[in-house]
Order: sequence, then structure tokens, then C-alpha cells
Amino acid sequence: MDVAGSNPVFRSILDGPVGVAARRAPSARPGFAGCPRPGGRGGARRPAPRALATEVPLPANGGLAPRGDRAAVERAIADLVRALGLDPAIEPELAETPARVADLYAEIFSGLEPGTSPEVATFPHAGEELVLVRDLPFYSLCVHHFVPFFGRATVAYLPAGRIIGISGAARLLDHYARRPQLQERLTGQIADHLERLVEPRGLAVIVEARHLCMEMRGVRKRGAVETRTIRGALAAPPWSEAIARHPRP
Ligand SMILES: [Zn+2]
Repeated sequence: MDVAGSNPVFRSILDGPVGVAARRAPSARPGFAGCPRPGGRGGARRPAPRALATEVPLPANGGLAPRGDRAAVERAIADLVRALGLDPAIEPELAETPARVADLYAEIFSGLEPGTSPEVATFPHAGEELVLVRDLPFYSLCVHHFVPFFGRATVAYLPAGRIIGISGAARLLDHYARRPQLQERLTGQIADHLERLVEPRGLAVIVEARHLCMEMRGVRKRGAVETRTIRGALAAPPWSEAIARHPRP
């Protein structure tokens, strides 16, 4: 039986028009809360909540939320301008650049603010059919080079009693994209958070992005980088076979 291949929704995801340069093999994680187990689902106790595998500690200053940190960013950018041999007295366009960049960072790094967490509503749900949100656009900044990487994400899961609100996947994506980030970590963090929220039977997070640190420096090649985190029932046949057959999200 080819459940995934015959599912028009999933097929439409997998037949999307996106190019792929690199792809991670789907991987199952032992102990996934939603995995089918011998003896049937629902019989075993759920495992105790655990720390997010992909969580990274916030900076000691908690990011840019405190006003003092914003001022420090502004001073640092002014220093950077001077270090590059630029002079606002000669180039007046630079005069407001430190303040503008500090404002920019406060906005695009809002995911670093201490205590913030995406507001994602969850609801009881009896159905078990695939839920999928595809082609969510995002912008982030490469943690290695501080230049943008951007693309789109697809989030899919098989509910096991709860679903997230319809905007939830986009909120998770934005929260974890708005910080200096690795695409691989972004993918895993969305998956971890979704798993904690609804403990699905299986999930897949597929992120495809262009990286300006690859395009405007170094090898100077344009290419799409794809990362996938696939767990539980979606990492096992027939779903895994359907995903593997289709090189595009
Ligand atoms: Zn980079």
C-alpha cells in the first residue's frame, strides 16, 4: 500500500517546484513520543518532558531587549564604520547608520529576547490525517557570517490528539529565524518545538534556503540548500519512501 504516494495533499507537497542542492537523509529518533510501539498506541506512558535537543543558551545579556544593549550595538557599529576606514564626516550618509543598524538588529533578532516564546495555540483533534503547511517564507541571518539566508519552509505532522493553530507553524518559523542562525539548527528547533506542543505521531520540517555567504563571497555560487528533520511515522515506510522518492519538498 502506498499511503503517502496516493495522498494528493502529500504528493502536491513533494512535487513542489523547488530546486535542491543538498539534502539530509530522513532520520528517525529513538524514543519519539508518537512512534507506534509494540502493543499499540496510547498504552504506554508518555516519556517525561525533556530539554530541546537543539536549544542553545541565549547570550548572557539576553539579546537586544535591554536598552543598554541596543546602545552597545550602536557603538559597535560606529566602531566598525571607523575600522573599515570610513568617516561619517566625509560621508554624511553614514551618520545615522549605527542607529539604523541597531534598529535593524532589534527587529531581525527579536527571537533572542529573553522570555519570548511563539504564541501557538493548540486544540484537541480526533483526526489522524496529515496536516501540512507549505512554502512559508522566512529571512534569517547566518550565524557564521552575519549575512542573510532566506527561503521557505514546509511543516507537516500526523496528529495524535492535538493540532496547532493554523498560523502556528509560521510563528514557530519566525521565532527561530529571528536570531543569528544555522539552517540545520533552525530546522531542528521548529521540529522540537512542534513535538513538544502536540506530540504528533510523526513530523517533517523541510527548509530550503539561499545563503548569501555562499553567493556573494567564497565559492560565489547560487544554490538551494535543503535541510530536513523527519521523525516518527513520517520517518518510516510508507511515508519515508514517498519522501525519498521525491527530491523536492
Ligand atoms: Zn554563512
